[in-house]
Amino acid sequence: MSDDLLKTYLFADRTVRVVGLNLEHAWQAAHQHQQYPEGVARLLGELTAAGAMLAANLKFDGSLLLQAQGDGPLSLIVVECRADKTIRAMAKLRENQPLPEHGGVQAWLNPGGQGQLAVILDPSRKQPGQHAWQGLIPLEGDTIAEILEQYMAASEQLDTRVWLEANEHQASGLLLQRLPDHGGALDQASETIEEATDTWDRACHLASTLRPGELLQTDTDTLMHRLFWEESLLAFEPQPVRWHCTCSRDKVLGMLRMLGTEELRDMIAERDGDIDVRCDFCGKPYHLDSVDSAALVRQLEQQPDTSEHGRLH
Ligand SMILES: [Zn+2]
Repeated sequence: MSDDLLKTYLFADRTVRVVGLNLEHAWQAAHQHQQYPEGVARLLGELTAAGAMLAANLKFDGSLLLQAQGDGPLSLIVVECRADKTIRAMAKLRENQPLPEHGGVQAWLNPGGQGQLAVILDPSRKQPGQHAWQGLIPLEGDTIAEILEQYMAASEQLDTRVWLEANEHQASGLLLQRLPDHGGALDQASETIEEATDTWDRACHLASTLRPGELLQTDTDTLMHRLFWEESLLAFEPQPVRWHCTCSRDKVLGMLRMLGTEELRDMIAERDGDIDVRCDFCGKPYHLDSVDSAALVRQLEQQPDTSEHGRLH
């Protein structure tokens, strides 16, 4: 399977960064074990494309998580993007709630108006006392792009514009970011700053000519040419983006051991000797037949009771 490529460009005066992404394989992998209604696939796909684009320029070893939650039929959507450009994403629906036929973020996630988007930066090797960093904003706006633009503005980050589209087959995005003056490419001459403002305005204007559906129908190279053909863009080495969930049979066994013998026995009794669990994130099923299940219980019985067991009951 070939990789999806994230492509980054700079305007010639190096004041505006452009990121383009069209996820197909990585996004289809999200549906391997999950069936999402169309509206959920759209919102989760948009969040996934956005996460991958925002994580592309993070200069730290860890994960970026975007997590939107509210009181709607869709209770939660999450995407996790790691420094190695692997991603995973998941959505949680509330049981027995009617699904909206139309509508965006407000209808699906936030009918009560109290929903929030969390942006979390989680370093992979934490120093003692170091925690994940989290920013929160209310879900104001009906598209993922609007909410993210508001987040970027509210957190006083770089001026950023985002265009996103997704369906169950593809998740695509375009991101423009106005770069800070590092004192190198730009000096403090007001003329230069005005030129940079012109570049930003021009980039936003060109990107705003995108038509609905165009992001999904067009590969990134064609799209860049169509939007920015009058500009000379500097292209960076494309970066592969891949789907990867960190679940494994070992982790599932570890989780089952934490439940303790009593709960395991109940589980096994309910399932005629077997244990079936699914990964919370990617939905991958893990099956222990009656032999494996019995072996796991025996193993636990032979171990001294741990305090974990006591705490869980
Ligand atoms: Zn998984």
